[in-house]
Amino acid sequence: MSVVPVRNASFQAAVVLLAVFLCGFLVWTASADTAAPRTHAGPRPTQDDAGQPPEVEGSFEGVTTPPTAQPPAATPGPKVPTLLQSKTGRTDPGKWVALTFDDGPWNTYTPQVLGILKQYGIKATFCVVGNQAKALPGQIREIVAQGHTLCNHTMSHDTEMPTRTPEEMRAQMQQTLDAIHAAVPGVPVPWYRAPGGMWSVQVQEVAASLEMRSLGWTVDTLDWRKPGVDKMMQTVHSQLGPGGVILMHDGGGDRTQSVECLRRLIPELLAQGYQFTVPV
Ligand SMILES: [Zn+2]
Repeated sequence: MSVVPVRNASFQAAVVLLAVFLCGFLVWTASADTAAPRTHAGPRPTQDDAGQPPEVEGSFEGVTTPPTAQPPAATPGPKVPTLLQSKTGRTDPGKWVALTFDDGPWNTYTPQVLGILKQYGIKATFCVVGNQAKALPGQIREIVAQGHTLCNHTMSHDTEMPTRTPEEMRAQMQQTLDAIHAAVPGVPVPWYRAPGGMWSVQVQEVAASLEMRSLGWTVDTLDWRKPGVDKMMQTVHSQLGPGGVILMHDGGGDRTQSVECLRRLIPELLAQGYQFTVPV
């Protein structure tokens, strides 16, 4: 009869030990989590970030990266945290979509894009190249005057940003900000977008240090390849859903097809019930 209480005592001791171990583990886990550095207060990454295809623009003047180049992020390895926002960020009800135009400002095409947007009363985001902003400050002023949002796309459309030092990254971004502000002093530039889709966590952190959030996309029209307007429309049909961000180009080369695509795209999306927004 005396065996049972001894067994109970052993069992209770084991339970107490297990509880102490679990508490210790939980405290350790919580402290490890809170000790993790928080370098950015931006939005949480969406699922689209992981599957986002790289943008590789082959036709921008002065860029020699071949169209087949792959970004470092495409190589296998541990998944790194991302500060990248790829969707509109709108959480209020609505079928939202955002138009974004890269590599401008550009003679001919930027005014045409602005004209179409104005016709429909749509606000978009322009990811401008610093050297282009410096050369065409009047177009930066027009983009701002029409109420569009600006995004920093580096000074020289540097598609190898992840290989640069933090100082070089910062210089590419700061010089672009300076070129924009020479045209329109003090205008907000809330976004950064990596040329060629060459993202890295460090690039995003440097952008964040300059108070810019990183802007990706969910629909890549690949318009810079000039695939034909029908093909570009098919791409949008297959990739766009509510909250989507569409990537197009108003600069970097001949953008006749991009402009023509935009003329068809806007009325079609409006007919489908989409509302246009800038990313928030
Ligand atoms: Zn670009």
